[in-house]
Amino acid sequence: MAKSIVKANDLDHRRKINFNIGKYDAVVPIGKQQFSDLHLARERAKNIKWRALETLDQLLEDFEGALLKRGAKVIWAEDAAEALNEIALICEEKNCRTIVKSKSMVTEEIKLNDFLEKKGIESIETDLGEYIQQLDKEPPYHIVTPAMHKSKEDIAKLFYEKLNTEPNLSPEQLTLVARQKLRKKYPEAEIGITGANFIIADIGAVAVTENEGNARLSCAFPKTHIVIAGIEKVIPTMNDLGLFWPLLATYGTGQRLTVYNTIITGPKQSGESDGPEDMYVILLDNGRTNILANDKARESLYCIRCGACLNACPVYKNIGGHSYSATYSGPIGSIITPHLNNMGEWKHLSYASSLCGNCTEVCAVKINLHELLLENRYEAVRGKHISLFERIAWKAWRKSSLSRKLMNAGNSKIKNWAMQKMFRRWTAHRGNLHFTEKTFNQLWTEKEGR
Ligand code: SF4
Repeated sequence: MAKSIVKANDLDHRRKINFNIGKYDAVVPIGKQQFSDLHLARERAKNIKWRALETLDQLLEDFEGALLKRGAKVIWAEDAAEALNEIALICEEKNCRTIVKSKSMVTEEIKLNDFLEKKGIESIETDLGEYIQQLDKEPPYHIVTPAMHKSKEDIAKLFYEKLNTEPNLSPEQLTLVARQKLRKKYPEAEIGITGANFIIADIGAVAVTENEGNARLSCAFPKTHIVIAGIEKVIPTMNDLGLFWPLLATYGTGQRLTVYNTIITGPKQSGESDGPEDMYVILLDNGRTNILANDKARESLYCIRCGACLNACPVYKNIGGHSYSATYSGPIGSIITPHLNNMGEWKHLSYASSLCGNCTEVCAVKINLHELLLENRYEAVRGKHISLFERIAWKAWRKSSLSRKLMNAGNSKIKNWAMQKMFRRWTAHRGNLHFTEKTFNQLWTEKEGR
C-alpha cells in the first residue's frame, strides 16, 4: 500500500512507464495484422489450453515418457523447497561454481538466485533486462520487460556505478558492455538454467522463446542444462506452436515472431557434437494444483505470460510492477498470487483493480481476468479473510440499502459522518462521500409535484 502510494505520485516513474508502454502500444496493432482472424486465433488458443489443463495429468506423463527415452531426467517438485533442494543436489554432483541463467519467472518464484548465492554459487542473469535488474539488486519489474521502469540514462548510470564504465554510454554501447561481460561466462559455467515457454507433450520437448540468443547459449554451452517449468506450461502437440509462438510474440512485444525459438528434446545424443551431456526438467507445482482444483480460477492457468494485461492495466501503469511485492504483477498476478500463496495474506491484490475490463479485452488467450478478480474477492469474503469490522459494516450496508425506511432514516449530516468513519481508508486519498440533504423519496416527490 505504502509503495503504491509513493509510486502513484512519482511523475518521473509514470513518464518512463508511459514512454515504454507507448512504444509497445505502437507496434502491437502491426503484429496483430498477421492474423487473418485474430478473434478465432485467440479462441483456438484458449480451447487448446482448456484441453491441456483438463488432461494435464496425462499430458505431463506423455511429456515425461518421451523425454526420458532420450536420456533426460524429469523431476517433479511439489513446492519451491523441493525444487531448490533438487537443484542443490545437481550442483553438488556437478561440482558447480558458476551458473548461466536465462530469463525465467519461475526461478523468481522460487527465489533461486538468493538460494544459490547462499550456497556460494555465482548465478549470472544473461537476459539483458534481467542482467540490469541483477546489477541493481532489484526483482523484475514486468514479466516480459524486466527493466521497463528504467530509462537509458538510468541504465548508463547503473553501469557507470557498478561496472566502472564511462558515464552516459549510448544503448548500443551499454549492450556491448553487457555482451562482453556475459559472453565470457558461458564457457565458464558448469550448469545452464532456463525456464520453458511451453512444454510440448507429444514429442516430449521444451520450447524456449527469446530475442537475444542468451537462452540458447545458456542451454547449449554448459555440460548440464536444468529447465524449471510450471506444470501449467503444457500444450498437447508440437503443431500447437504454430499458433502459440506468433500469439506470444505479438501480444508480448508486437513482433510477428520472437527472434530465437528453440525446441529442446533432450541432452546431446550419440553422434551429436553440440549440446549438454545432462538435461534435467523440473516440473513445479508450487500451488498450481490448488488453482487447478478451483473451477473458476482454473482458467488463469491458461496464461502464456505475454504481459499484455499488465501493459493495458491503468492500475499497473500508475503503481508499477514492484508495488505488488509479488513475483507476478498486474491483473494476472493479482489473480494467481492469492491462490499460489495465501488468500488471507494476498487478497488485497484482487482489490487493486478498477474492474475496467481492459485486461480481459487484451488477453492473448481470452482469460476473463476481471471476472476472476471479482471471484477472488468473493472467495476472500466467503473464506472470512476480511476483518470483523468490515463484515459488520457490509452487513449494515446491505440491510439498510435494501430497506427504503432505513435509507430515509436520519439526516444527511449523521449519514455523512457514519460514511466517513466507515470508509475512512477510501476517503483518505479521495474526496468525501456525501449524501444529499434530501432523501431520494423527497426528491422524487418534488419532481413529480405530488
Ligand atoms: S493473462 Fe492473458 S494477457 Fe495477461 S499475461 Fe497471461 S496471457 Fe498475457
